[in-house]
Amino acid sequence: MSFDYDLFVIGGGSGGVRAGRLAAGTGAKVGLAEEFRMGGTCVIRGCVPKKLMVYASSYAEAFEDAKGYGWSVGETSFNWGKLIAAKDVEIARLEAIYGKNLMAAGADMYLARATVVDAHTVKLSTGETFTTKHILIATGGTPFVPKIEGHEYVITSNEIFHLEEQPKRFLVVGGGYIACEFACIMNGLGSEVTQYYRGEQVLRGFDNEVQGFVAEEMREKGVDLHVGTDVQSIVKTDAGLVVTNTHGKTLVVDQVLYATGRVANTAGLGLENAGVTLGRKGEIVVDGYSQTNIPSIYAVGDVTDRVNLTPVAIVEGAAFVDTVFHGKPTQPDHELIATAVFTQPEIGTVGLGEEAARESEEIEVYRAIFRPMAHILAGKSERMLMKLIVSKTSRKVLGCHIVGHAAGEMIQLAGVALKMGATKEDFDRTMAIHPTAAEELVTMKTPVAS
Ligand code: FAD
Ligand code: NDP
Repeated sequence: MSFDYDLFVIGGGSGGVRAGRLAAGTGAKVGLAEEFRMGGTCVIRGCVPKKLMVYASSYAEAFEDAKGYGWSVGETSFNWGKLIAAKDVEIARLEAIYGKNLMAAGADMYLARATVVDAHTVKLSTGETFTTKHILIATGGTPFVPKIEGHEYVITSNEIFHLEEQPKRFLVVGGGYIACEFACIMNGLGSEVTQYYRGEQVLRGFDNEVQGFVAEEMREKGVDLHVGTDVQSIVKTDAGLVVTNTHGKTLVVDQVLYATGRVANTAGLGLENAGVTLGRKGEIVVDGYSQTNIPSIYAVGDVTDRVNLTPVAIVEGAAFVDTVFHGKPTQPDHELIATAVFTQPEIGTVGLGEEAARESEEIEVYRAIFRPMAHILAGKSERMLMKLIVSKTSRKVLGCHIVGHAAGEMIQLAGVALKMGATKEDFDRTMAIHPTAAEELVTMKTPVAS
């Protein structure tokens, strides 16, 4: 049977574009549909605009720090509109590159919504229908907002990048990556930020000490963080949004950002027409090769809800192409994924946290908490945390956790070491680089008493 395409990709984000480009590069006939903007969440309303806002938000502190180094800093002010406009120009540039690169690889690009008709057919919102040997679902995820009273007044990460005005009084709900990052961003940009998290400590799943350390530093910098607190209702008034929390207290704010997780984009995709199995939360269930229960249909990235990060979606997309178009069955490797949370201070982490490691074996914990040199003349009390979790038997470093300036940059390389199975003794025999903050990683001599 002949098909219109060898591969039809639904979704022009991190995973879909990588797979589409690589597959087209093998000479396969590839089509890709994107319903919103090429580049997907990461480029349009995720990692990239977020990181630009992180950079913007770090200047207030830099101006203050500069004074300690002898600079006279004149009056400073921040213009929200200018930041959003500059960010939009950069995002449009990247969006164009994504489309251009896909087509340069030889794929056909459709700016339309696609749905699945059956195991080998997709239909576009333009009315066109294509048959295809393989379908790759790479439709990502979308913000989830619980249906509390007044939920219609809240914004999500989709809207925050396009607000016309900077909210002066800002409430963030949630304690995960997005909530903590935006609490810090808006605080750095000068908004009055309150954050409500329902659980005991933000960033559930991270090393407990990292969680506590970051929460404390965020409070120190001005985020009014309340744990064990959730929203009961939101009422719109002339004075602003009146939020009543689960302790019965009220707060009046200009915007409420809900960052309470994301759900897989599978609604209305027609997957039931092909009989694709979904998980409890609507995610597409795949095997190690990203193949669904329907042999011609694969899925990569956030829509599969494995590890929801851009580099992971990209690697899953590439592994899919190796498997299907290079005849080289390849499973994406989800072990020891280094990650950064762009809070202020930043977190870089790879491997097991202390508590998780303790559950599986006997460990040693090495820890350094110090005031980095850069903070001394700046007159800042902010400290930095570095932590190594080491197996007592194999001596392997099972986890590395950094909180502080450039933690994300540092953890990328620590990730290489852990992936290679580095032991504590490998870290010890690595010469330090002086004077840096990172040298602490290779100079921690004595484990903390457990
Ligand atoms: P996406 O990038 O979401 O792409 C899916 C695409 O499919 C979208 O463009 C969508 O419009 C399109 N689509 C959906 N349905 C259809 C349809 N039926 N037809 C046609 N097109 C369709 N990750 C990091 O690694 N680092 C970070 O710093 C980071 N920051 C983030 C910040 C925020 C605010 C958010 C929300 C996410 C962040 N992430 C970060 C996560 C990262 O963005 C995702 O893991 C990544 O984008 C997943 O890629 P994907 O290809 O699976 O899906
Ligand atoms: P997360 O899963 O990280 O966090 C969701 C938060 O919302 C948790 O604190 C959760 O609480 C809370 N929550 C969930 N449901 C409710 C509810 N009904 N009421 C109140 N609170 C609720 O999701 P995010 O949306 O922050 O981010 C999605 C994913 O995107 C991340 O997990 C990450 O994979 C990726 N991302 C990566 C970034 C990076 O690499 N720097 C940056 C941003 C996003 P609880 O802990 O109690 O469940």
